[in-house]
Amino acid sequence: MTTNDNFEIIKYGCKILRKTSDFIEEIDLNFVEFVEKMAATMYAIDNGVGLAAPQVGINKRLFIIDFGKGLTVYINPEIISSSPLTSVEEEGCLSLPEITAVVERSVSVEVKYFDLEGNVIEEELDEFAARAFQHELDHLDGILFIDRVKPAILVPLSGKLKEIKKIGRLQNRKK
Ligand SMILES: [Zn+2]
Repeated sequence: MTTNDNFEIIKYGCKILRKTSDFIEEIDLNFVEFVEKMAATMYAIDNGVGLAAPQVGINKRLFIIDFGKGLTVYINPEIISSSPLTSVEEEGCLSLPEITAVVERSVSVEVKYFDLEGNVIEEELDEFAARAFQHELDHLDGILFIDRVKPAILVPLSGKLKEIKKIGRLQNRKK
């Protein structure tokens, strides 16, 4: 697959990232091809460990994660329960290039989702896997990690955020 076949990443500032995504009702061949193209897009970017469908312009409840342990596809994902215990770690996002900030999230989450074969999976995720799941699930509800950060932390990043927003706003016109 050439880079031209990859999706354009939707940036902060584009309205697509702020919508609540729709549930997926059918896993057909087109859908599988879409997921493959999403994965190719993610793997083409350095440090790309997770990608949600809205980040490639599609408001559907789907995201993919691979932090070196193989690709996992999460369809209609949800959190059943979250640990009261939280941790604070640095996060980044492909829709907010060069921006990182510390975000507080539950250390472990019990989750439910469908895989590409249509099986229901229920499992407990911890540490990085739990954090990645929570970050990506937020995308399906129009939430970005900077929304979960204290405004004071974003002050020194405001210049960069403005620049990304300009790119994101231009993407609104293309869609
Ligand atoms: Zn993200």
